[in-house]
Amino acid sequence: MSSLDAIDPAAGFPPVIHNLLSTQTDVLAQAAALVLVRFFNPIADDFLQATGLHEILAGREMEALLPIPGSVNYSNRTTLWEAHGGQRVSGIGPLEDGLMCVFADEEGPHADRRIPDTNLIEYRGDGLVGHQRMTGGNQQLANYQAEKRAIRYWHKPLGGDWEFESWAVIVERRYVWGKDTKKNWRREYAWVLAPVPSPFRDTWPAEVLALLAEDTHQTRDDTLGTEAPVAANPSDARERYQRLCASVESRERQNSGRSTRTVTERYFRSAQARLAVLLRADGRCENPKCAGQPNDVTDKGDPILEVDHVNELARGGRDHPSTMIALCPNCHAIKTRGSTRRALQKELLGVARGLHLQLSTREVLGL
Ligand SMILES: [Zn+2]
Repeated sequence: MSSLDAIDPAAGFPPVIHNLLSTQTDVLAQAAALVLVRFFNPIADDFLQATGLHEILAGREMEALLPIPGSVNYSNRTTLWEAHGGQRVSGIGPLEDGLMCVFADEEGPHADRRIPDTNLIEYRGDGLVGHQRMTGGNQQLANYQAEKRAIRYWHKPLGGDWEFESWAVIVERRYVWGKDTKKNWRREYAWVLAPVPSPFRDTWPAEVLALLAEDTHQTRDDTLGTEAPVAANPSDARERYQRLCASVESRERQNSGRSTRTVTERYFRSAQARLAVLLRADGRCENPKCAGQPNDVTDKGDPILEVDHVNELARGGRDHPSTMIALCPNCHAIKTRGSTRRALQKELLGVARGLHLQLSTREVLGL
């Protein structure tokens, strides 16, 4: 009897828990999956075999880890919190099971952006006002990025419910210009998330593994050498415009090879070229024949302008302010689908080049 006590057949669990785990295989699998992901994440490919846990999980590891992506919806963060714990407000934080989450709310400060031609999601970091710092939620995400651990990605579309949309891993982080909740320009973190089927590494697509292998875990600082794209006077605007263009051009020269990385590189470069064009436009439609643009502004206080490549030909070429133009919604529609679009595009290409040259040359005093 004493030797049996020494072996501890209940494995340290109270009898009721031990009984549950030894008779309910689903409960045992759920417990095993949670322990695995919480304490052994990222899970090496042969870990389940090596530990014998594959017998307990029996191929059910993706279903055992609750909640299952796409299976739960909550109308607000309070009901989500009541079901899963964690915290109720911030964009980045764990649930009560300790697994890290990011929350992207299209109606709130943490909207996400999908990177075109990829499955990747751009998620802006933690911190509502002022420059974002590597503290709090940002620091936690940086740790997950360095350790290549999966996080949960929650998303709330416009007018919709919170949904646990997917597991994801962080494949890149940037420091970019953005606007805070007081509508002031600031430097903020842009996290690039790649959705994955589960936190188990052997389910991750080869493309995601390649992105993770290339990631340096360093911040790519897109704001380096630039200033906020807002200016107090024309000579200040010229200076800031030139700095943004120089940053775009220096990154054009760095060729990054791999296809998905090239796409994200171009996406961020193009975002910076847009900021330069908006600075150049100074709140006005750049079509010289514009018949009038809306006086209203966006929720972030920006004029309603759409920045685009002047034509499809330019789109295939450079993401550079000299081939891009800021237009009001009406002029943008004419340029894109009006019957006079070809003549207009030709004219606007000359306008974009002219405006770019005007701001690119040194100011000559006395002229
Ligand atoms: Zn216009």
